[in-house]
Amino acid sequence: MARGKKRDLLQVVMSDFNEAADLLHLDANIRVRLSHPRRIIIVSCPINKDDGTVESFEGYRVQYNIARGPAKGGIRFHPEVDLDETIALAALMTWKCAVVNIPYGGAKGGVQVDPHKLSMTEIENLTRRYTWEISPMIGPEKDIPAPDMNTSAKHMAWVMDTYSIIKGYSVPGVVTGKPISIGGSEGRQEATGRGVVFSIIDAAQELGIDLSTQTAVVQGFGNVGSVAAKLLAKTGCKIIAVSDENGGIYSSKGLDIENVSAYVAEHEYLKGYPGADEISNAELLALDCDILIPAALGGQITKENAADVKASMIVEGANGPLTNEADKILNDKKVFIIPDILANAGGVVVSYFEWVQDIQAFFWHEKEINDKLRVIMRNAYHSVRNIALEKKVTNRQAALMLGIGRVAECARVRGLRP
Ligand code: NAD
Repeated sequence: MARGKKRDLLQVVMSDFNEAADLLHLDANIRVRLSHPRRIIIVSCPINKDDGTVESFEGYRVQYNIARGPAKGGIRFHPEVDLDETIALAALMTWKCAVVNIPYGGAKGGVQVDPHKLSMTEIENLTRRYTWEISPMIGPEKDIPAPDMNTSAKHMAWVMDTYSIIKGYSVPGVVTGKPISIGGSEGRQEATGRGVVFSIIDAAQELGIDLSTQTAVVQGFGNVGSVAAKLLAKTGCKIIAVSDENGGIYSSKGLDIENVSAYVAEHEYLKGYPGADEISNAELLALDCDILIPAALGGQITKENAADVKASMIVEGANGPLTNEADKILNDKKVFIIPDILANAGGVVVSYFEWVQDIQAFFWHEKEINDKLRVIMRNAYHSVRNIALEKKVTNRQAALMLGIGRVAECARVRGLRP
């Protein structure tokens, strides 16, 4: 069992939980119940490779808490996936769903694999086998997976199809982030990046900042980062640098994000993009800018590089991009941090809309979806900020207090039986 490599993230998440529980004066008996993942399944996923051999990959599904509704969380394919990371991300999903007040618990899943080393047929075999192995645990009333790093609508179609084969009828509500043709939702693909930008707009309004005078830097140019960059550019904000796993590109004049996206669609990576300077990911995080959006992996800003960050606002597109030490250093520097469980919650909100549409078998237009997302993100932003101002705590502490407080209330009124 791959336990241990990602203890750091789990430690961050649990220490954040304990701090928020202290601030909430959480009842000790409720605290015990919220301190442990509810259910974990560890699976082996043997697959047929193209060369005729069989290789097995370890996978996980963790349901952290289901007091508020079915568990909800993405499936990650990455070589660094392990059980501790999956538990940590499932806990974050629990608090996140509660922050935006949607009727879900929290879950996460993943397979420890480098998908870049597999062919598309092998990835499909792996996705279907993983789905088969976790199938007793998932379902529209139980646990609804979604995409995460290195998984997309294509993978969700395979999850939906495999689960439906097991059941003998189509079950679109088992997974979100699907292609629209099989019950996916309008607006889902852009929802996380859109939510990131909604929270920046809300912060700018509150702080009296004119976004058209601002510069921004985005780490990670995948689903979240590329959409956030594109929509933020539409506010007039100048995006001066973006990056992916191979490094970044920088232009003091501002990048044409539509052009950059077209380049990536053709070349897969940013490397070689004409008309911009190449920079490393380390240099990118230290650039002189107003807004920094880490939208790649966790643990990117640490005690080693936090002091180099010059942005006055950090908006966490990724889950857990700041370590605890970095968070403290940046709060001491009075950087305005919009934490992951608020900033990147747009994806799970529209996943919720997708699930509701699947269950009703009645689908909404994109405008209706984006408008509903706007209302939820605005309410969540102001609920978090009200707590932060009233209790004199950081935005992260406030978001955790809001989320954990709501989960705790459900646990309290439901009671403990047997
Ligand atoms: P993705 O796979 O679409 O994109 C990830 C991007 O990060 C890619 O551009 C990749 O090249 C880049 N990257 C990887 N390693 C990097 C590194 N070391 N330095 C710089 N860039 C690096 O993934 P995504 O769906 O955009 O998710 C990104 C983050 O956002 C993850 O932390 C994920 O958990 C979080 N998130 C995603 C969603 C969603 O709806 N997709 C929702 C909430 C949170």
